[in-house]
Amino acid sequence: IQTVTIIGAGLAGSEAAWQLARRGVPVRLHEMRPAKMTPAHNTSKCAELVCSNTFRADHLENAVGLLHEEMRRMDSLIMGCGDAARIPAGTALAVDREQFADMVTERLNAEPLIEFVNGEVTEIPAEGLLLIASGPLTSDALYEEIQKLTGEDRLCFFDAIAPVIDAESINMDICYWKNRYDKNVAEGEEGDYLNCPMDETQYKAFIKELIDAEKVAFKDFEDIPFFEGCMPIEEMAERGEDTPRFGPMKPVGLDHPVSGEKAYAVVQLRRDNRMGSLLNMVGFQTKMTYGEQKRVFTMIPGLEQAEFFRLGSLHRNTFIKSPDLLDGTLRLKSDPRILFAGQITGVEGYVESAAMGLMAGRFLAAMARGEEPDAPPEITAHGSLLAHISKTRTSDFQPMNVNFGLLPPGKKREGKRRFSRAERRRSVSERALEALDGWLKG
Ligand code: FAD
Repeated sequence: IQTVTIIGAGLAGSEAAWQLARRGVPVRLHEMRPAKMTPAHNTSKCAELVCSNTFRADHLENAVGLLHEEMRRMDSLIMGCGDAARIPAGTALAVDREQFADMVTERLNAEPLIEFVNGEVTEIPAEGLLLIASGPLTSDALYEEIQKLTGEDRLCFFDAIAPVIDAESINMDICYWKNRYDKNVAEGEEGDYLNCPMDETQYKAFIKELIDAEKVAFKDFEDIPFFEGCMPIEEMAERGEDTPRFGPMKPVGLDHPVSGEKAYAVVQLRRDNRMGSLLNMVGFQTKMTYGEQKRVFTMIPGLEQAEFFRLGSLHRNTFIKSPDLLDGTLRLKSDPRILFAGQITGVEGYVESAAMGLMAGRFLAAMARGEEPDAPPEITAHGSLLAHISKTRTSDFQPMNVNFGLLPPGKKREGKRRFSRAERRRSVSERALEALDGWLKG
C-alpha cells in the first residue's frame, strides 16, 4: 500500500487523513501552523474553526443537514467530533470550538498510521499520491506552486459571489425571459436571462438602499483589486446614481416581450445549474451583510418572495477552477496522482470542505491499493457537490455551499395533493440517503 501525503490539517485534510488511516493506508500529514500561521487561524490545532462555531442546520429539510447525515454514515471524523462537542443551538449544529479542535487533534494523533510533519510545504512533491487541502488561505509559496500546476488563469485568490435564488420563488407575473435584442434565441425559445424590470421610482429607491445598507468590512489581508467583473454593486452605485443602469442593470434591448413596455432599469438573472433550479443575479457581487442583502434585494420587482440559496460576497479565497482541472473524483486531470479537497476545490463552508476531504480520503484509499476510485451517485449531497465542482461551466464558476438546487427536484404532488416545500425537501433527502446506502453497500 502506498503512503499518501496530505498538505493541510484543516477541515478537509484532517477528515481525509482519518478516512485513509481507518482504511489501513499510511498518511504523511503536513501542517504549517504554528511554525507559520495564516491570517485567520489562531492555534496549532487540527481543523480549527476560523470564524463561526456552527455547522449550520442539522435536519433533513436542509441540504447541509443532509450532508451531515451522509457524512455520519461514512464514519466522518469531523461529524463525530462535531456531535461530541455539540452545544445548544436549536435545530443547528453548533460546537464548542476548543473542544472540537482538541478532539480532532487527539483522534488523529492516536492513529498510528498518521505521521505529522510540521512546517510549510513550499514545493509540490514530484512523486507519490498527494492531496492538496491547504484551504482558502494557502501560503504564498504553495500558491505559486499550485499556479504552476494549474496555469495562472485557473487559480483564483478571491471570490466575487453574486446571490443565487431558488427559481421557484420568483414572481413570473412580473419577470420575463429575454436576451438583449433577442440575440442568440431560436424561434419559439425563451432566452437565457430572466429580467426583473424597474421603473424610475423603484430604481432610485433601490440605489439609495444599496448605498445606505450595512456592509462587511474588508479584513487587513484582503487586498482585493476591483476590476470589472468583481466590483460590488453598491460600490458601483456609490460612483453615480446611473452607473449601475449603464452596467449590469442596463435596460436597452430588453423591452417586455408581450406589452413592449420599456423598463428604466433591469436586474438580470441567469441559470446557474443545468436544471435551471438556481438563478444567479448577474453582476450583483456585494459586500452587504447577509441580512441587508435579503432586505434590499427583495425590493426588486418579482423578487419580493425570493429564497436565497447563496448570498453574495467578496472574500480572500484561494480556489482553483475545478471544472477545467479536476475529474469527478477530485483528481487533477493532467496528473491524476494529485487530488484536491476542501475550500480550494470551489466548495464553500466548513462542512462542505470536510465532505470533500472525506471523499478524497476514500478515493485515495482505493488508489493506494491500485484500485479505481468510485464517486457516489449525483442524487446524493456528496455526489451533487462533486458534480458542481467538476461539471459547472467554468466561465461563471464560483464557490458554492451545498443546497437543494444542486440536486434533482423531488416529487411535487401525489394524486391531487401538492407537497409542501418541506415535504419535497425531505423526500429529496430520503432519496439521497437511500442512494448513498446502496452505493456504500456496492
Ligand atoms: P482550512 O481549514 O483552512 O485548512 C487548510 C490548512 O492548510 C490550514 O490549517 C493551513 O494552516 C494549512 N496550510 C496552508 N498552506 C500550507 C502550506 N503551504 N503548508 C502546510 N500547510 C498549509 N466557513 C464556514 O462554514 N463558516 C464560517 O464562519 C467561515 N468563516 C471563514 C472565515 C474566513 C476568514 C475564511 C478565509 C473562510 C471561512 N469559511 C467559513 C470558509 C471555510 O469553510 C473555511 O475556511 C474552512 O476552514 C475550509 O476548510 P479547508 O480544509 O479547505 O481549509
